[in-house]
Amino acid sequence: MQAQVEQWLKEGTVDLFIGYKKIDGHVMPHFFSMDNIDEVKDLVPGQAHYSLEKVATKVAADHPDMNIGILLARDCNQQALNVLTIWNQLNSDHIKTIDAFEDPCPPEQAEDNAPYKQQNGLGKTLVPEDVEAFDQPERFSRWMYEFSKCMKCYGCRNICPVCFCKECSLEHKDLVGTGNLPPEIPIFHLVRAVHMAGRCIDCGLCEEACPSDIPLRLLYRKVNDIVKDVYDYETGISPDQSPFSVLGEKVILETTPINE
Ligand code: SF4
Ligand code: SF4
Repeated sequence: MQAQVEQWLKEGTVDLFIGYKKIDGHVMPHFFSMDNIDEVKDLVPGQAHYSLEKVATKVAADHPDMNIGILLARDCNQQALNVLTIWNQLNSDHIKTIDAFEDPCPPEQAEDNAPYKQQNGLGKTLVPEDVEAFDQPERFSRWMYEFSKCMKCYGCRNICPVCFCKECSLEHKDLVGTGNLPPEIPIFHLVRAVHMAGRCIDCGLCEEACPSDIPLRLLYRKVNDIVKDVYDYETGISPDQSPFSVLGEKVILETTPINE
């Protein structure tokens, strides 16, 4: 892996390689370039859960002609790249990748044995069909219990490899009221869930980042099940545009600036 990256940098195949380096015992995202090529020997495959693809979108936005190499450390990283390419956040002509899979996506979840959560909430090992086995009022009440724990830290959005909007609806006061904790529920979570339709690749990073132990993947899996049923579209695998990237002729959006 190190030899490949060194060769790519020296021959100009990539201008920058985004990978991991161990710093003070911690595996951290790191930029490797000709300016620090002696550090390539410290490049590690890593089991760190960062959105290197998201970092690449930030670099590409400022330097659209830059050739970028990216380490694929998890098996869903390629799906994230596919989504970001489909949504025009990355140009595949400028991206090179190295597979060094060490970690599956999503991570395995331990059974949640907390009695209160079992009685009132939703565990992370559940699948959408388990939730549908509850009647509608109970389903609603269990989701509301989970949403009520949200502290609006935005960790789920910030870590998500396929959350890339410059202006986020979750911060738009017309969509989600401000000044309250928990944030306006269930709107905060439903706005994010709708935005993940046709985008979420089920990497599990949001759930890992959530300090409130909310089973976010469960919600987004349900949303993507609907997308699969209605549009026969599978996120990260279908090479076509997401059905949600095209607005119908009758849709009229009145834009309201976020920072009025
Ligand atoms: S699982 Fe969470 S972090 Fe991963 S793509 Fe889906 S919403 Fe984003
Ligand atoms: S990471 Fe969890 S607590 Fe933070 S905003 Fe997202 S759902 Fe809420």
